[in-house]
This record gives sequence, structure tokens and C-alpha cells, in this order.
Amino acid sequence: MKIHEFQAKELFEQYAIPTVRGKICKDQDSAAIAYSEIKPKAAVIKAQVLTGGRGKAGGVKIANNEDEVRQKTKEILGMNIKGNIVNKVMIVPAYPIKRECYLGMTIDRNKRCVVVITSKAGGVEIEEIAAFAPQKINRYLIDASIGIPDFKARNIALSLFDEMDQVKQTARVIQNMYRLMLEKDASLIEINPLIEDDKGIIIALDGKMTFDDNALFKHPDIAHLAELSDEEIKENEAKTKGFSYIQLTGSIGCMVNGAGLAMATLDLIKLYGGDPANFLDIGGSSNPQKVIEAMQLLTSDPKVKVILINIFGGITRCDDVANGLLAAFKQIKISVPIVIRLTGTNEDEGNKIIADSGFIRSEDMTQAIQKAVELSKI
Ligand code: GDP
Ligand code: MN
Repeated sequence: MKIHEFQAKELFEQYAIPTVRGKICKDQDSAAIAYSEIKPKAAVIKAQVLTGGRGKAGGVKIANNEDEVRQKTKEILGMNIKGNIVNKVMIVPAYPIKRECYLGMTIDRNKRCVVVITSKAGGVEIEEIAAFAPQKINRYLIDASIGIPDFKARNIALSLFDEMDQVKQTARVIQNMYRLMLEKDASLIEINPLIEDDKGIIIALDGKMTFDDNALFKHPDIAHLAELSDEEIKENEAKTKGFSYIQLTGSIGCMVNGAGLAMATLDLIKLYGGDPANFLDIGGSSNPQKVIEAMQLLTSDPKVKVILINIFGGITRCDDVANGLLAAFKQIKISVPIVIRLTGTNEDEGNKIIADSGFIRSEDMTQAIQKAVELSKI
């Protein structure tokens, strides 16, 4: 789970990581009010979206007076940054920057430990530095049984600053970040840029954090920060109905029983040149209500041009599934073609039941999928 910059900075403050907090504004008027506490100094207006690279996209702007604050807030609100629409900005006092660098912490999955990443080339995205100047990136693996003692923290900080004053400040930032990482089960903390201001003070000007979803139950304070995307809201709804559902970007709506078969179905769709609209495992039940709910889920996605039902009857009997489908389709109207493959226990009985239903039937999985791909391209 990702959180916004302003939320990350609240956590930084709780963990004594020096940062600049601002006011969150959703319109020009509140931005102007926020600026009244900053003026006559300059302010930075920052888009609050759950993605990086805001600066480059024009989502971070400096304003020198109230008119500029209003104008730039207007420009940034509504902006689309990598698919995220900006609906709030943070107004912060602008800091004079003497040096910008990068300080990040994440999990090294191969080494199974936390890794601290530093670079003097801060400001731009770390992915770019990694691609074009990998020698400018330093990595420090942290032994979990030792943590980051003072000498190690200073050693890491020395990769960013030369003067002892800044090294000591940065060492504390690193130790506090590590505490934050462990105590809140974060999987990433990124400060880019970490700056030295004109008075020699070290400050986190930006903050990005990601948390381990599987640990969120331990941290209600973090879990409640979640801002769900439309996609995640739909996926959670599906979860409450007992489905495992993941929205994808294609046009073939899939309803499959069993996660393994569902994955194989998606693989075959791709193999035959199609694009799945979702992953949906309806589990072992043939309950008509479940089929209705699954169909409603699939048809609520306007991208879906064809529905592919792939059922392998094991414990679930095909005739039960067929009856469930018929009952379901009496209750809901579907305007897209439906391709169905029903095999396994009691398949003859099952296929007889849906013989006159108007579904496009196929006993062969490959044929069914090829047919669905073909129909998705019309
Ligand atoms: P990102 O592009 O999403 O990572 O957003 P950042 O918060 O890192 O902002 C992008 C860039 O804007 C930074 O690298 C800085 O160069 C600049 N910036 C952000 N805040 C300030 C500030 O308070 N003062 C100054 N002078 N520049 C800032
Ligand atoms: Mn940044």
C-alpha cells in the first residue's frame, strides 16, 4: 500500500526525521489562505498523487506571491500524472537548497534484508540514475540482528556528505528511518531529495512510503491512510462476495472455477493474441446467486466485449453449474456474447441443459479461448 507525501511526512515527524509539512488544499482559495502563513516567502505547490516523478510532470511548482499560488494551484489541480488525477495539492514554504541527494530504504529480496540506498545525485528519479549512472548509487545491506549502530549510520551518511555536522544529522535520519521501517512494516521509504539547506540543516523535502499489505492488520493507524483507487474498491467488493478478482486492462471478461485454471486461462488468452479484462476465480460453488454476482462484476466493466466461462467440474458438478447459469441468466440481461467451456463431472448432463441457451459452447479449452479472442476483436 502506498501513501501520499503529506502522510509520509506526518510519519517522518513522529519519528524525528526533519521535514517540512504543509497544508493540503483542494482549491485556489484554500491555497491562498495556506499561503498567507508563508508569505512573503516563496511557496512550493506539490501535487499529492500516489506516484513519483511529479516534478518532471509539472506537478511541483514554485510560487512567489498569492497570484502565482492561485495560478499554479489551478494548473496543477486536475492534472493527470501517470494516470493519476490530481485532486489535492500541498502548499509548503520553499526551502533554499544547497545540496540535493537521495536516501532510500527497501527490502533486498535476494539477500533477505533491508538495504539502504544512497546517491549524491538526488532530485531526479533513482531509476534514471540506476540506468544511466549506476556507479553513483551506493547500497548498504543491513544485518537484522545488528540493525544500524552509530558507526554504520555515519559510514552510510559519509556517502552523501563530507562535513561532520551534516554526516551526524544524516546518520540520525538513517537510524530513525530504519526504526520507522521496522515498526510500521514498511517495504519502502524514499527521501528524494534529502537536502542541505543554506544554513547547513538536513531536511527531507519529499517522502514516499510503501507498506507490506500483509502486515497492515497490525497497523490500523497505517491501514486507515489507504486511499483506494476505483480498481481497488471493486476488488475489495469482490472479496467480500467470496471471489478472488483482479481487474486487468483487456476486453475478455473471464469467469473460471479454481485459481490455477484461471491463470492458465489468462495465459492462453495472451498466447492466442487476446487480452483478459480480469482474473476471476469463483471457487467451487455452483450457486446461481454467485454466478449472478460474478456476471454483474464482469459486465460492470465497460471494456468487456465478450465473456468467457471456463469450468472444470471436479467436486463441482457440471449439471449444477449449468442450472446455476440458466437461473442466473433468467435474472440478468447480458448484451455481449458468452463463450462457455464446461467439462468434467456430469458434463453431458450439463451441456444438455445449456444446449438452447444461446451460449457459444466448446468442450475444448483451446477452441473456447480462440473463439473468445476472435469475438473480442470484432
Ligand atoms: P517528485 O518529482 O514527485 O519526486 O517530487 P519532489 O518533492 O521530489 O519535488 C521535485 C523537485 O522539486 C525536487 O527535486 C526539488 O528540486 C524541487 N523542490 C521541491 N520542494 C522544493 C522546495 O521547497 N524548494 C526548492 N527550491 N525546490 C523544491
Ligand atoms: Mn522526489
